[in-house]
Amino acid sequence: MKKHLLFLGPPGAGKGTQAKLLSEVTSFLHLSTGELLRKEIDLGTDLGKQVKDIMNKGELVSDQLVLEIVKKNLKRNNKGWILDGYPRNLTQVKSLNDILEKLNQPLEIVFYLEIPDEVLIKRLLLRGRKDDNEETIKTRLKIYKETTEPLIEYYKKLSQLEYINANRDLKSISADIKQKMA
Ligand code: AMP
Repeated sequence: MKKHLLFLGPPGAGKGTQAKLLSEVTSFLHLSTGELLRKEIDLGTDLGKQVKDIMNKGELVSDQLVLEIVKKNLKRNNKGWILDGYPRNLTQVKSLNDILEKLNQPLEIVFYLEIPDEVLIKRLLLRGRKDDNEETIKTRLKIYKETTEPLIEYYKKLSQLEYINANRDLKSISADIKQKMA
């Protein structure tokens, strides 16, 4: 079974939900940079204060801050790990490659959760997180297309990409993911 995984896809595709479910059944570490950042905000740490406005606007936090968080949380572990929401641009891909080389745990599979824009927008508005208002969603989708989407081509070239139709019920998506990582 593959145990070093990455979930890629636009905001609202269900990366977080699927990564969490999978981490529960496998005991793999679920590393969500968005969740870790939100925790910092809730705790009112210096880092949280630095990122709060940026996140509420739907913009990306600096690569350097995100890298620090990833380094702190992604340690060598024998169970496995699931990256969710990181990397989000090619600079972050490069940093991740360096980290994984040092850990000697290469990425084994990238799940790309595909879903039409109109479905995403509906889903995000229903979710109602602080950064899920119409204005912010527009910004996040734009940034996703400009900055994160090129990663699909990158991982495709490395033959690590698996397409997942994310416009289905939760269980069908989970089953598909489990089958592909077997
Ligand atoms: P997410 O929970 O993945 O939707 O992330 C929520 C917000 O956290 C994003 O809109 C960004 O502001 C910030 N964020 C999360 N991951 C990253 C990352 N890898 N690089 C930069 N910003 C990030």
